[in-house]
Amino acid sequence: MPVKSVAIIGAGVAGLAAALSFARLGVRCDILEQAEQLDEVGAGLQISPNAARILAALDVLPQIEAQWLEPETVDLASGLSLKRLVSLPMRDVARKRWGAPYGVLHRATLQQALLAAVKRNPLCHLHLGKRLEAVSKSILAGITFQDYDLIIGADGVWSSSRYAVPGSPTARFSGNIAWRFTIAPDYVPEFLRRRCVTAFLGPSAHLVAYPLTETGGFNIVAIAAGTNPGDTWKAEAQGKQHALLVEQFRRWNPAFEQVLQHVNKPTFWPLFQAGEGSWHNGRDTVLIGDAAHAMMPFAAQGAAMAIEDAFELAAFVQRGQAVGDALSAFEAHRIPRIEKARKRAALNKFAYHASGPLRLGRDLVLSMRPPEAFLADFDWLYGYRAEGL
Ligand SMILES: Cc1cc2nc3c(=O)[nH]c(=O)nc-3n(C[C@H](O)[C@H](O)[C@H](O)COP(=O)(O)OP(=O)(O)OC[C@H]3O[C@@H](n4cnc5c(N)ncnc54)[C@H](O)[C@@H]3O)c2cc1C
Repeated sequence: MPVKSVAIIGAGVAGLAAALSFARLGVRCDILEQAEQLDEVGAGLQISPNAARILAALDVLPQIEAQWLEPETVDLASGLSLKRLVSLPMRDVARKRWGAPYGVLHRATLQQALLAAVKRNPLCHLHLGKRLEAVSKSILAGITFQDYDLIIGADGVWSSSRYAVPGSPTARFSGNIAWRFTIAPDYVPEFLRRRCVTAFLGPSAHLVAYPLTETGGFNIVAIAAGTNPGDTWKAEAQGKQHALLVEQFRRWNPAFEQVLQHVNKPTFWPLFQAGEGSWHNGRDTVLIGDAAHAMMPFAAQGAAMAIEDAFELAAFVQRGQAVGDALSAFEAHRIPRIEKARKRAALNKFAYHASGPLRLGRDLVLSMRPPEAFLADFDWLYGYRAEGL
């Protein structure tokens, strides 16, 4: 039976996209978010065509397109010599090859666009300042006075909704951390290309740089081994952590020193991965996004997969079968794709952080492989058409 009313825990990318996806099919949604207000957590985000196509269907793409940058190329470069190893045409290829654009933007731009669409939609009701320690129909009814056919746990990597799903995945620290920061326009060094996404590869670490049109500066994500600061997205990389960041890149090309000296409010994020486990309770509760399958950001697909989950869940549930059956069908449909994205991320990690002879071999292979072969590797990922489109 199609559902009439849905409760969503968490107003991140997954939760807001789920609300819009269900409302699009005529379903009332209550979104319960722990934060008193939705502020600008994080830095930049790459949105690949598979996600952009869904954002278009949710009528959110025009707003973000007005503010994002479609990079001319996506490049891999050596963190030691700064030499470009691969340069993939992206702006002119993405729309033609995969039928949707590829863009980079500030995370707040995406969140604000989703939020504005949720606020415009009379079927979506956002409840801020509501942290759920446990999730059940009766707990939710005590807050919103509504009865729900479906509860969606979209509360991220440290999800509390998982407790309502027996055998749900557990999130574990990966041993890697991501430093995230922006560089003000005045301090952008010349070796960072202004219309490109560049991943610099170096021993045991990599650093991704891309421009943000919203600020005129650059977004930098640097990933290397590190320690866990606790369950937070916002640990500030001051003092010891900032010194560790500088130390990690000491063996890199000296040009990076200038970058690291002028970082703006650096934060470091512990990278957690969710293991295997059930995403639903067989009746009325399901996990999506990072709550279900937090993955390493080496393929820049976490938010994209959360958006796909949200849209496809609505399509499966509204097909008309019993909710428990729809949730089983949804999970069976999504798991192979998530696993493929995870494998891609693991392969990228292996290649990006190679050192010694492996690094030399990698650089040679990357620089000799034709760009067409790299683009073809993305067809399954970027060319994906979600159920319900
Ligand atoms: C360094 C880094 C770079 C990345 N780059 C990219 C990229 O370029 N492209 C990409 O696609 N992905 C990227 N990702 C991944 C992406 O950021 C995540 O996968 C995505 O944000 C997950 O969205 P979510 O909505 O599932 O979780 P979240 O964004 O974590 O949202 C969860 C929401 O639930 C709320 N919440 C939590 N607990 C509760 C509770 N108990 N009660 C009520 N509310 C609660 C939180 O406040 C939050 O608003 C990156 C990740 C990292 C770490």
